[in-house]
Amino acid sequence: MSADDTKKMLEEIARLKDELDHIRSYDELTGLYNRKAFIEKVRERFFEYPEKDYIIVCLDIEKFKFINDRFGFVEGDRLLSYVADKLKERKGSYDVVITRLTSDVYAFLDENKNIEPEAFGAEVQSWVKNYPLDVDIKIAVGIYHVESRTIPVRLMCDRARFAIDTVKKNYMINVAEYNKDVRDYMISQNELLNDIESAFLNHEYKVYLQPKFDIRTNKVVGAESLVRWVHPRKGLIPPRDFIPLFEQNMIIPRLDEYIWEETCRLIREWIDKGYKAVPVSVNVSRLDIFSLPVAEKFVAFTEKHGIDRHFIEIEITESAFANDENKILSLVDELRSLGFKVLMDDFGTGYSSLNLLKDINVDVLKIDTRFLEPGRNENNKGKEILESIIRMAKWIGLQTVAEGVETDAQKLFLLNLGCYYAQGFYFSKPISPEQFEEFIKNPDNVSETLFGEDNEFTIAIEELFTSDFMTERLLNNILGGFAIYEFDGKDDLKLIKANTAYSEVTGNYIINADNEEGNVVKRIHPDDRERVLEAFRNARTAEVEGVSLLARNVYDEKVVWISARIFYLAERGKRSIYYASLTDATEQARIAAELEALKNSLKTTD
Ligand code: C2E
Ligand code: CA
Ligand code: CA
Repeated sequence: MSADDTKKMLEEIARLKDELDHIRSYDELTGLYNRKAFIEKVRERFFEYPEKDYIIVCLDIEKFKFINDRFGFVEGDRLLSYVADKLKERKGSYDVVITRLTSDVYAFLDENKNIEPEAFGAEVQSWVKNYPLDVDIKIAVGIYHVESRTIPVRLMCDRARFAIDTVKKNYMINVAEYNKDVRDYMISQNELLNDIESAFLNHEYKVYLQPKFDIRTNKVVGAESLVRWVHPRKGLIPPRDFIPLFEQNMIIPRLDEYIWEETCRLIREWIDKGYKAVPVSVNVSRLDIFSLPVAEKFVAFTEKHGIDRHFIEIEITESAFANDENKILSLVDELRSLGFKVLMDDFGTGYSSLNLLKDINVDVLKIDTRFLEPGRNENNKGKEILESIIRMAKWIGLQTVAEGVETDAQKLFLLNLGCYYAQGFYFSKPISPEQFEEFIKNPDNVSETLFGEDNEFTIAIEELFTSDFMTERLLNNILGGFAIYEFDGKDDLKLIKANTAYSEVTGNYIINADNEEGNVVKRIHPDDRERVLEAFRNARTAEVEGVSLLARNVYDEKVVWISARIFYLAERGKRSIYYASLTDATEQARIAAELEALKNSLKTTD
């Protein structure tokens, strides 16, 4: 081998080695250091600059899993790279080492003087303020001030992350420093962790009951079971101080099973004592659904204690639906077919609530009115949304119950909207079963018709025909196209009302139902007409499920594919009233056509 060849070869080896080093030290997606390289670099800095005052900062994109689920991995990755780029941009002015610690958590080392926590928190939030995804993104920041360099870098990162835990799910604050409070909190959490087992043995977990009221009569219609931990040294611990810990450690299913059975036992007691028993709702956590045969458990507990299934109601939080829809939707179906009532908990606090409404299969919406708190929403938007939700729910035939009701004004507001059931400090805090029993002992305190028994659900049909400001606003608060029709059962299909999104989806102008133009049959593609009319006829018997279909709309010679779900509402004179949600289905239709073509080509090659 010539000297030249040898040189080339050595160069090539050096290049490969560099490449390998790169792969070993960097995160592929973002180009930031990986955890191992980060720790090495931090150690190097500590060694090089013994005099400098350092901090470790962690950033956590909240609900990142939700974004991944909802918008897909490509969008998820794009967001991760975007945040990494922002961090790199910032780094330009300082000597900073940055890493991506885990999927959605970043960390960096910087000098204390370079970061002013509040300003940095605001800066980070400004990065994602106008991020082009239809979701509010929050990045939480935790800061650990390096006082002793002898502790492992990993632990420093952990401490910065503990600080993050204190601001997670906090709407107002996104930055926290690791300090004595955080340390005390971590220590007490750790102590609780050690006491979990003995607490089961000593029956320290107690069911508390918060009554639900009929606000027209101020009588009790039901209750919700809420757990409390009566700790021998620490006293009464509220769930927010231990439920997250129990979730992280997979204790929740075991605890919930216990609470569910306790609840059945209490109801049995009331019956045995001759009191008027009321239905009680229990909480089902997302983790329960993935680790317990939930429906089987409820069947077993109600049978064991000999209580009717209507006494047990099941609360599942709205955000659980946003994540693993199918698993949860089928559980809801199963529970309902077994005779348990299902409530969607915390409705209105999560994502695209109004959008969820059209695919919903629960019995009751439990609406958290705490989003009405002053300051949380500008321009009374919260009130407007609440109005929309309650009215929409009425149309669809869903019951509603409001929670977190604290004031007389809130109660009146609900009364006016026709939401007659409520729970909240205004009426009663969660109380012990003994206190609850004292209360229902007196039959005058218990409502004649219990929660959900009064099926006086009336659709405000006439309201749909009067074009008042309220209805307009309500319709436009609904996400996606939405229209109300009147149908003679044959070939006259009139559009009564629609929102602006309806026009955007279909390209139709919204026309006046009173004139000849009102008949929308001619807007339907001739080949699809009979199918669409048939769908309307079928929707009459399909009840709550509605009927789905794909069809073409033609307007001004423009053809658009539309996916519609049609629901029957009520009779009005000799005609029937329906409503439908409509979405653009161009993409769906294209895929269907391609599949069809593929099938045909397979046939011909046979
Ligand atoms: P949640 O299911 O939304 O329960 C309602 C919470 O709101 C309760 O807090 C209740 O005390 C509180 N609350 C009721 N009325 C008002 C009001 O007017 N104003 C305000 N500010 N708050 C009110 P709690 O008992 O601390 O429970 C907190 C959360 O812990 C519950 O929220 C639920 O998510 C969870 N949790 C409680 N018990 C259990 C359980 O047995 N199993 C599971 N998985 N989770 C539970
Ligand atoms: Ca609940
Ligand atoms: Ca709730």
